[in-house]
Amino acid sequence: MITCDVAIVGADPYGLSTAAHLKAANGLDIRVFGEPMGFWEKHMPKWMLLRSPLAGSHLSDPERSLTLEGYQANTGNAITSPLPLSRFIDYGRWFQSQVAPDTDHRKTECIDRNGTGFRLLVEGGEIWKARRVIIAAGIEPFAWRPEEFKHVPEELASHSCDHCDLTRFRDKKVAVIGAGQSALESAALLHEAGADVEVLVRAPFVRWLWRQKWFHTFKPVARMLYAPPDVGQAGLSHLVARPNLFRRLPRSVQDRWGKRAIRPAGAAWLHPRCEPIRITTGRAITSAVPHGGRLSLTLNDGTVRYVDHALLATGYRVDIARYPFLASPLLNTIQRVNGYPKLNDRFESSVPGLHFLGAPAAWSFGPLMRFVAGADFASRTLTRGVLGKTKSNTHHK
Ligand SMILES: Cc1cc2nc3c(=O)[nH]c(=O)nc-3n(C[C@H](O)[C@H](O)[C@H](O)COP(=O)(O)OP(=O)(O)OC[C@H]3O[C@@H](n4cnc5c(N)ncnc54)[C@H](O)[C@@H]3O)c2cc1C
Repeated sequence: MITCDVAIVGADPYGLSTAAHLKAANGLDIRVFGEPMGFWEKHMPKWMLLRSPLAGSHLSDPERSLTLEGYQANTGNAITSPLPLSRFIDYGRWFQSQVAPDTDHRKTECIDRNGTGFRLLVEGGEIWKARRVIIAAGIEPFAWRPEEFKHVPEELASHSCDHCDLTRFRDKKVAVIGAGQSALESAALLHEAGADVEVLVRAPFVRWLWRQKWFHTFKPVARMLYAPPDVGQAGLSHLVARPNLFRRLPRSVQDRWGKRAIRPAGAAWLHPRCEPIRITTGRAITSAVPHGGRLSLTLNDGTVRYVDHALLATGYRVDIARYPFLASPLLNTIQRVNGYPKLNDRFESSVPGLHFLGAPAAWSFGPLMRFVAGADFASRTLTRGVLGKTKSNTHHK
């Protein structure tokens, strides 16, 4: 059995940022597991552009030197806005090479308690023991498939996260379900790849984030209305950018404003690319039935669409019970609300020494945790908490 002080599960924005802070802080033995930027490479479409602004797309390190600008200066690779996915992945891997070159690319297959610490079974059968575990394992297992598609085979209906290359749908008729950035950008990419696309939207209209233009035209006004991570509407954006303030709001307000801040919308720069695409609003799908190698979609106005494929850009619903690596005895002791772990001010769950970052932390710290921009607050806060605890543990020995 191999031991370490802290095991970090996941090597994407949250895992890597936390590794940067913890490794810089003191002599803790930190181990990071996972394929660096694996989710971004394998589960997002090639040629995608980031919706978040550059100011909200940095990973976090204590010196704030491993920023996108730092990457550009060190590698000569240009940073442009909106940022292409491939460049962001390259930035993440450069960041990883600086802060955690010893990242172990294997997956952790099972995590369970081991006395006061944890036991991790790593791909290939190796056993690790850690005093503390930080889960930064992302959202992939939370991909949400609407009920109507539960029994439709994957070749006819798949979730947007099942693809990194949409060119396989060239010359196919594809219905994209959803109204968020992922739906609209997938539709644009499919259209540009030569597919015949229709976007089916349940809401009465598609929301476009026209405010992006304001940032360029009236910067001082925009700064007053929107905090740099640019998550949420005018005013609300400043509250979302301060998770410690957001978490003190009454729960009903947090829930309402949290939903508002992440409601489906498309970036303004995407609008012209979607203009040639048929977008049908106010229509829900009532049934999806395979029919002669194709899919028949019945809508709530009684009309039917026959398509080669339905792409479900229907988002993600956090439920940590879907993390395949959490052993049942451990999972059963984690206090949860609607699938989210209840976390204290150190991102620690009700199981001492077990932390959650990224989207699973959104119930406790608000919507910023669903975005790269939240990695700075999360990694700094967790590191302060862990070090405080480590010091006091040492003190009590
Ligand atoms: C299409 C799309 C576009 C997006 N665009 C943006 C954007 O422009 N800006 C933005 O801020 N956010 C965006 N997001 C949200 C984005 O996913 C999150 O901000 C970000 O990925 C959170 O990082 P993370 O480190 O929490 O998790 P993830 O990036 O999801 O990474 C988690 C990693 O953990 C790994 N992992 C899981 N289980 C294990 C295990 N057992 N062992 C080892 N490793 C494991 C996974 O393979 C994955 O690589 C987008 C999301 C989607 C789906």
